[in-house]
Amino acid sequence: MNRKAFVAALQRQYETYREPYFTSRRFKHADIQPLIAALSPDKGFSVKELGFSTEKRVIHHIQLGKGATKVLLWSQMHGDEATATMALFDIFRFFSASDELDSYRKVILDSLSLHFVPMLNPDGAEVFKRRTALDIDMNRDALRLVNPESRLLKSLCDELNADFGFNLHDQHTRYTAYYTPKPATISFLAPAYNAAKEVNPVRERAMRLIAAMNEDLQSIIPGQVAKYNDEFEPRAFGDNIQKWGTSTVLIESGGYPDDPEKFYIRQLNFIAILSALYAIAQKEYEQHTTEQYWAIPENRMQLRHLVLRNALLDFNGTAYRADISFDIRERMKADGRSFYYQCFVDDIGDLSTLYGYREIDCTNLQVSFGKVYPEEMYSLDQIRKLNFSRLLAEGYTALRYKGQDWQEKDVPADIPFNLLRGNHTRPDDAVSIEQNPDLVLAENDKVRYLIINGFVREPDVQLSKGNALSY
Ligand SMILES: [Zn+2]
Repeated sequence: MNRKAFVAALQRQYETYREPYFTSRRFKHADIQPLIAALSPDKGFSVKELGFSTEKRVIHHIQLGKGATKVLLWSQMHGDEATATMALFDIFRFFSASDELDSYRKVILDSLSLHFVPMLNPDGAEVFKRRTALDIDMNRDALRLVNPESRLLKSLCDELNADFGFNLHDQHTRYTAYYTPKPATISFLAPAYNAAKEVNPVRERAMRLIAAMNEDLQSIIPGQVAKYNDEFEPRAFGDNIQKWGTSTVLIESGGYPDDPEKFYIRQLNFIAILSALYAIAQKEYEQHTTEQYWAIPENRMQLRHLVLRNALLDFNGTAYRADISFDIRERMKADGRSFYYQCFVDDIGDLSTLYGYREIDCTNLQVSFGKVYPEEMYSLDQIRKLNFSRLLAEGYTALRYKGQDWQEKDVPADIPFNLLRGNHTRPDDAVSIEQNPDLVLAENDKVRYLIINGFVREPDVQLSKGNALSY
């Protein structure tokens, strides 16, 4: 038995523990109630009502284990930060199972009392927004406690006086591990408990534990772990819980390529948290140092969805070269659970300090705006009969659409073209901040790439991700 073997086994067997219910990260309070109701006392779970949100949604306190060391884990105090909530339900399934990892389960549950509060902000989660129903950021409410959810967390902290706390959040997918192209897929922080950012034994234990978790994650996602800025925020929960004497670890789930629903990052949370619980149970964190913690690279925000390098552009007849970065925003659809992407130009100029999840060197490419196909389209079926490869090769990026069979803001995933309704004659045709131009990148007059709503298309390549927009 050792932590390294535990991490390897968790990684190998993750699928057997994954809670299959979740299909997107925009799940609601009602979705998790049956999952909580199914947590059986036979498996050691004790479920209590902790209290109610402003909109009267019940918040549960789930307890497991009989050990002397108390660990409190809470997720989604920001309603649109759902990754770790899914991981907590994976962890519940892990502890409900019985297999060759039973010896690890026993070590953890004999040494620790685990206290979980999944989805602390159910009202925010309902509409997938950061703040509570009162539109107050819970993480700036640790002192005034205006939100009922804040009072519930505070009273549980007071009641338990836990040894360790896990404050589980999501961060922007733009974050990098310092000035590298690698996304900060997981970021950690042992929050400061005062403005001088001193290190007392409480904070030091959190730092040592993070060093252990970083070691585990480096074996899976080398170079993709970062550390949050430790500026003291007097109103935040993490900082105050550290101050109140609980060694507190902040985990932020960031970005990972082609993981829009963060299901892979959720798996990393699952592994890192379980490994941390084992490290606490075995006091293994004591073998790690604060120097190892400080050596974790700091978070920077250097990553964008797409960067075009050294593109030759034109301003009223004057040529200039510039890098162009595109970023994407998630727009929630009417079902409240799915989303589409809207892209926009984020920056232009010398972007040598930025990186893209995708980058294209335009040094030898001609850049032009996409063309609108002249024929009017009256249905999606008619569109689907077009020869997409040929149209893309000719530089068409948008279609005139007069049909009634599609009302959404995004275009069905199998159609690469923007759709222009009504009076719209073309998408944005300026490379300017906040605009969303269609670009055609050609090499010796042959179209190589088309940028349509920030997604890179190639004439002969089938779509794999992204969406065009309906204007
Ligand atoms: Zn957050």
